[in-house]
Amino acid sequence: MRQMTLFETIRRLRDTHRLTAAGYETLLLCDDPVAEEVLRGQARAAALESFGRGIYVRGLVEIGNICRNDCFYCGIRASNSKVCRYTLTADEILGCCRRGYATGLRTFVLQGGENPAQFSGKSEMLPGGVAEQSAATGVEWLEDLVRRIKAECPECAVTLSLGEMSAAQYRALKAAGADRYLLRHETRNAEHYRFLHPAQMSQQRRLQCLSDLRAAGFQTGAGMMVGSPGQTIGNLVEDLLFLQEFRPEMIGTGPFVHHPDTPFAGCPDGSVELTLKLISILRLMDPHALIPATTALSTLAPDGRARGILAGANVVMPNLSPATVRGKYSLYEGKACTGAESAEGLDALRSELAAIGCEISPSRGDWRG
Ligand code: SAH
Repeated sequence: MRQMTLFETIRRLRDTHRLTAAGYETLLLCDDPVAEEVLRGQARAAALESFGRGIYVRGLVEIGNICRNDCFYCGIRASNSKVCRYTLTADEILGCCRRGYATGLRTFVLQGGENPAQFSGKSEMLPGGVAEQSAATGVEWLEDLVRRIKAECPECAVTLSLGEMSAAQYRALKAAGADRYLLRHETRNAEHYRFLHPAQMSQQRRLQCLSDLRAAGFQTGAGMMVGSPGQTIGNLVEDLLFLQEFRPEMIGTGPFVHHPDTPFAGCPDGSVELTLKLISILRLMDPHALIPATTALSTLAPDGRARGILAGANVVMPNLSPATVRGKYSLYEGKACTGAESAEGLDALRSELAAIGCEISPSRGDWRG
């Protein structure tokens, strides 16, 4: 009887791409191995139908780890004085993209801490310093960088993951040629958001940014950590209901992984199993969404990437940052950045994908609904 309800819920999600809060809760709490297998199988089938066997690959360039924010979970938070701070120059970033382009990569993801001084190129913001405010858009350096990447790497897509900005800045970056923007909502529950972030950060602002990104014309990415401190199953249900309404083109979700030099140092890591289940639910909610098997998932499980794909993910993001800075971009402990998690490891990735009947897609992998 209970199993019938589970199968019926999975079928409804597959066929209508939406559920009520109670439906999502039923799936998240389900510990019936047969039903879990059915959920995973249906999600994988939906991914195969939308994307075939091709997996989209994005080269991740971590452009800097100076950040004005102080998110309690994040290793590069402003008040972590143990971090060795760096910013890559435009030439270094272009060099990474050129290397990636030569190996066949057609999407570059520029990710980093929120550092207005770097983005404007107007002044050095030393940790604790203040950026000059004279710039017209405040993101001139980034605009120029995006234009140079698009000029040097024909047909490539540029994804930005650089945090909160004004609507005008997002528009300027879109006009410069950027295609996609990742900004996780982190949690849809207001109280939980306040538990994860200092008082200066506002959930309302985060949600405003997501709607500004969409209005600017970006393929927009949202998402949450799984098992972040204080998170309840009810919070995840709220996340799913939010994603079901907002319908982001990209949905990034990975387990929380503790970092020893943050206020959440002693908190347990998120669950790999629950992350995989969420990937499957998200895939059935949106058969066309771009859903990565995240680095955090690979960090907690050596076979996390393959299992993420078999649960319905269709994107991987190997690290393309210069080897010298990879250790410094430490969002959490033990972050994977070698082997198939690195752009040098594309052959390893290729054979890993082949082992599960997949292959690297040569396309730039835009959202197609
Ligand atoms: N500053 C940018 C991009 C860097 S953080 C931004 O805030 O969007 C990128 C993502 O890494 C965050 O959205 C968060 O969900 C994830 N992250 C940060 N710390 C983490 C941790 N300790 N464990 C797992 N994921 C983490």
